[in-house]
Amino acid sequence: MKIDIVTLFPAMLAGPLGESILGRAQAKGLVEIRVADLREWAEGRHRVTDDYPFGGGGGMVLKPEPLFRCVEALRRPGARVILLDPQGRAFGQEVAAELARAEHLILLCGRYEGVDERVREHLVDDEISIGDYVLTGGELPALVVTDAVVRLLPGALGDEAAPGKDSFGRGLLEGPHYTRPEEFRAWRVPEVLLSGDHARVARWRRAQSLWRTWRRRPDLLETAELTPEEQKLIEEFRQGKKPDA
Ligand code: SAM
Repeated sequence: MKIDIVTLFPAMLAGPLGESILGRAQAKGLVEIRVADLREWAEGRHRVTDDYPFGGGGGMVLKPEPLFRCVEALRRPGARVILLDPQGRAFGQEVAAELARAEHLILLCGRYEGVDERVREHLVDDEISIGDYVLTGGELPALVVTDAVVRLLPGALGDEAAPGKDSFGRGLLEGPHYTRPEEFRAWRVPEVLLSGDHARVARWRRAQSLWRTWRRRPDLLETAELTPEEQKLIEEFRQGKKPDA
């Protein structure tokens, strides 16, 4: 997979892209991530990338020419050009999984008041928002999308940390985790996790995951595919029963 990120502030991306799972996925050859400096695609001595909005009003707007020039140079057949934009479709685990199947993503980071509308209308295939709030630029959203997508690529995480087990992997929240010490300030790790009984541990984890989802995000239960055993547990929660501690 290839990911190109087009930005006016390349230095904002270098650190996060080089660390941890993102850095290792590139070292393993699972993904090639490149950062394009939009200014290099602007013309003239001053390489101007933004201008005043027609019709007046505050703030600057990213000009169309550098963005078109840059994307047209980067784009290969099959590439998906995505504008990070608070007005885009909501990003979530399903969108991340959809993007993880693409061969080439080109992520455009807006700035200031955003991009000239002709970019939205004629250059991009998709617009993605990471939430209902406005950030100063598309760099952090591009990192969020890149991180969520890359960790889904086969081989990016170790087997033990398969992304399907994480929250939202099966449409549910994941249950709690504990590590050593067994007792910390008189708070003990649940006994079942020390039992060595794998089937019991698996049952406990399933029940905890359902309980968390039921308590924190009951909306997820409306669409999650539950086994008959899981449906029975939810019914018990409805009747006031709690999962075993
Ligand atoms: N004037 C725009 C509006 O009201 O819709 C907001 C522009 S924002 C200050 C500048 C840039 O930050 C956007 O072009 C976009 O690339 C990025 N951005 C801000 N919030 C975002 C969000 N929630 N999701 C994705 N991108 C975002």
